[in-house]
Amino acid sequence: MVKILSPRAERKKIIKAMDTMWSLRVRSRDGWQCQHPHCRRFLGHERGRLHAHHIFSRAKQTTRWDLINGISLCGGCHKFKAHQYPDDFRDIIIDNEINGLTEKKYKALRTSSDMLWSLSLPDLWLLHSNFRQAFKRDGNIKGSMERL
Ligand SMILES: [Zn+2]
Repeated sequence: MVKILSPRAERKKIIKAMDTMWSLRVRSRDGWQCQHPHCRRFLGHERGRLHAHHIFSRAKQTTRWDLINGISLCGGCHKFKAHQYPDDFRDIIIDNEINGLTEKKYKALRTSSDMLWSLSLPDLWLLHSNFRQAFKRDGNIKGSMERL
């Protein structure tokens, strides 16, 4: 039997599932390795210690699930570099063209992240469906589909 959720609960459930898929896809894409150029720590054996950091805030749903807006960082680089020194970290991203983000593309990503903060439930459904298909296609993140 299918459980009917309130729109609010449905929204929460979809967002949680997409956050999980986004995080796994970002970290898998990055080879389970911290992408800070001065660190490059591999954490494939301790995946929970590798964080998927949002370059532009996850509060902004237009770019919350863009893979280009994600970068894998170890706990130390996440807390003490990305969040503590955001301006320096932005320069590191652009100088190293992380995710192909040249200055021009970085600005374009910022513009789209500023466009709209919240997606409608039908938009979330569509995005979730596309995301699930892409996640299945990746096929290299074992044992992660059941909950999504
Ligand atoms: Zn690191």
